[in-house]
Amino acid sequence: MNTVTLKPSKEKSLLRRHPWVYANAIDRVEGKPASGATVVVRAHDGRFLARAAYSPHSQIRLRVWSFDEAEPIDHAFFKRRVQRAFAHRQAFVRDTGAVRLIFGEADGLPGLVVDYYVQDGGAGSGQLVCQFMAAGVEAWKEAIVAALVGATGCPNVYERSDVSIREKEGLEQITGVLAGDAPADTLITRENGVRYHVDVRSGHKTGFYVDQRDNRALVQAYAAGRDVLNCFCYTGGFSLAALGGGAKRVVSIDSSGEALALARANVEANGFDAARAEWLDADAFRTLRRLVDDGERFDLVVLDPPKFAPAREHVDRAARAYKDINLSGFRLLRPGGLLFTYSCSGAIDADLFQKIVAGAAADARVDARILKRLGAGLDHPLLAAFPEGEYLKGLLLQIV
Ligand code: SAH
Repeated sequence: MNTVTLKPSKEKSLLRRHPWVYANAIDRVEGKPASGATVVVRAHDGRFLARAAYSPHSQIRLRVWSFDEAEPIDHAFFKRRVQRAFAHRQAFVRDTGAVRLIFGEADGLPGLVVDYYVQDGGAGSGQLVCQFMAAGVEAWKEAIVAALVGATGCPNVYERSDVSIREKEGLEQITGVLAGDAPADTLITRENGVRYHVDVRSGHKTGFYVDQRDNRALVQAYAAGRDVLNCFCYTGGFSLAALGGGAKRVVSIDSSGEALALARANVEANGFDAARAEWLDADAFRTLRRLVDDGERFDLVVLDPPKFAPAREHVDRAARAYKDINLSGFRLLRPGGLLFTYSCSGAIDADLFQKIVAGAAADARVDARILKRLGAGLDHPLLAAFPEGEYLKGLLLQIV
């Protein structure tokens, strides 16, 4: 049996049920575990701590499957974990055809993300889209795919493991069909009554920002009669929600022409009046400043940029970028206006993000009130023992 023994006192984080062990916590490895193989993890005194996946190339050397000594890691284990995850979504997620079915560590499947899309109107048999981002889930891919198909009854599974993080695990980037049919060229799903195209093969992540569902619903709820600005709009998620909520006018900015083409198609798919939507194919930083200079004003602004801080060393530069766009956001708001502002940088925590936004409000010389702290939906649970899982944070502010 492959066994990994930790250095003295390095068992503490596992006893708190944190699911990772870094290479520098390891005293010795017995046996010759291959990449992704299951190992028993023991404290220095020999006590059982967990069963985990071994990742010889990564600084995160072990990812825990189970803290239960009696639980073997086999096909039945993956079946149970996937069924549990599916049952959670069935119980907690409503009014959507786009669900995060597996959210890594929080679902006991570290390094795995799976989104489940159902076509609007129930056409087709649905589409599962997976990202395998760690050696353990890579090694159990077949069992996981079988479990996904079994739990959901959806026969179509597509892999979007074209993510650079795989290199840290010694894995190549890969995409392709894992089961069933290739993804439909046009997959249109419905969320809160609004239809969205999902580009499973080449869109961002698995094709859609499933994590922003609750936030799109909020924008939809508050958009009626308002002038809305949506920055970094991608395929128009928030823009469509605003149009669906009865916004008077929605201006959206993105530097990707392809994303904007899909956004326009989304307007059409919903039968919304295209004259209410304006799409600017441009750099958001410069465009925001130009809009301020032109004296444009809005009642609701959304700022949902890409990850400005992919790692710790980018935090300072990222903080300046967040401050820059939020400063413009505040300047563009009419009194009483709402700002929905987000960061998906794991390296910037909620406190720091709030400080940055507060600094931007001060520079804009406005009083900003936080109406609500925002995050991903209930299909993106956060393990209490694993704060690293909280990547998306947002604030809904009102200027007075
Ligand atoms: N808000 C979106 C997701 C944003 S993803 C949603 O809810 O679906 C980030 C987007 O920012 C991408 O579409 C990317 O094309 C765009 N982007 C990145 N840098 C940009 C820049 N400097 N100016 C404008 N858009 C940018």
